[in-house]
Amino acid sequence: MNECIFCKIGSGDVPADVVAEGTDWVAFRDLDPRAPTHVLVISRRHVESLDGLRGDQGEDGGVLLDACRRVASATGISGGYRVVTNVGREGGQSVGHLHFHVLGGRQMGWPPG
Ligand code: 5GP
Ligand code: ZN
Repeated sequence: MNECIFCKIGSGDVPADVVAEGTDWVAFRDLDPRAPTHVLVISRRHVESLDGLRGDQGEDGGVLLDACRRVASATGISGGYRVVTNVGREGGQSVGHLHFHVLGGRQMGWPPG
């Protein structure tokens, strides 16, 4: 049985505040936003992290990055925003299903913590 929360959001079994979607991806607002706009872009298919992204298995990183750009445009932050993916425990990843954070609506600091 698949207990992955993001798989369940991707299939529609668990509700989320969806802002945009495509055949292979869905974008929804983060439960605990760290910026005025904070959206997560996921592949509907389960992929653990960027480390597991394999073009030959149907996941296309370009499609997911294009989705991030569309989300920025659709949420009105295309003037300046940040796209982040945390990989592994030391990288700060807490949900083991590949996701890109799209953050905007405030001045971003650098470096991130
Ligand atoms: P990570 O720390 O893995 O890079 O990011 C996981 C993100 O998922 C966190 O920002 C967290 O707030 C968000 N999150 C965790 N569970 C849920 C959920 O069930 N629904 C939504 N919308 N966001 C979630
Ligand atoms: Zn999953």
